[in-house]
Amino acid sequence: MLLKDKTALITGASRGIGRGILESFLKQGARVWALARSQPQDWTAAEELAAQHGTQVRFLAADVADEAGLTAAVNQVLEQSGGLDILVNNAGITRDNFIFRISNDDWESVIRTNLTSAFYLCRLVVRHMMNRRTGSIINMSSVVGIHGNAGQTNYSASKAGLIGLTKSLALEVASRNIRVNAIAPGFIQTEMTDKIPEKNREEMLSRIPLKRMGTPEDIAGATVFLASDLSSYVTGQVLVVDGGMGT
Ligand code: NAD
Repeated sequence: MLLKDKTALITGASRGIGRGILESFLKQGARVWALARSQPQDWTAAEELAAQHGTQVRFLAADVADEAGLTAAVNQVLEQSGGLDILVNNAGITRDNFIFRISNDDWESVIRTNLTSAFYLCRLVVRHMMNRRTGSIINMSSVVGIHGNAGQTNYSASKAGLIGLTKSLALEVASRNIRVNAIAPGFIQTEMTDKIPEKNREEMLSRIPLKRMGTPEDIAGATVFLASDLSSYVTGQVLVVDGGMGT
């Protein structure tokens, strides 16, 4: 039980990687506030998992691109939880296209959802964590934020921005015992990657030394590590979880 007695807020926790993190956190004993735009239909499964592991899960409906809604959600967590230990900024979207076909709206919605939301949430929770002299913040970046990817200028910019945010905030809050790290997943099996055409999937798979796509559980394992005291001397880092693709 690596996260026993810890309270976590996870964004984009309704499916995919966020859902994998939610389940792993519950198995490690964390109390979890799961934030997404709408509650998943199979939500009782998460409540049952929490009960099995002697902990609780609460759902928060909010759009991470909406500052007012996020502020209300975070205030609810801070008032009702007695202290927030872990923030996972996981929610994210893609609007892929060549640059001349990316509309202003496609640019702005990706930056707002993937990057500005993390800025809002970090700003909302950091003072609280500073007062408590403890905290771990994990931002879900991507390997494309490090290497770039054709057709993803908006998405790559948002993910590279998250790395800059992570490294600078880590320096600002380290003296208060708050750690800030990022994870850079490679090619992970979720609804986000289900959209990729078969030809491109095969080409991507051929570049992965471990010869398989990653799973939400692979990313959840890295997130548990960064959230827990196992990583108590790790801050300002980007943990690449890509099956060796970028090696
Ligand atoms: P997904 O599309 O399956 O899930 C995204 C989650 O974010 C969903 O729960 C969705 O409801 C939520 N979300 C999206 N916009 C939101 C908003 N405005 N407000 C609240 N919630 C919102 O995607 P995924 O593959 O699970 O991706 C999770 C994170 O991992 C994203 O940040 C993504 O960029 C990143 N990532 C994914 C991969 C991959 O290969 N799947 C690779 C690198 C990074």
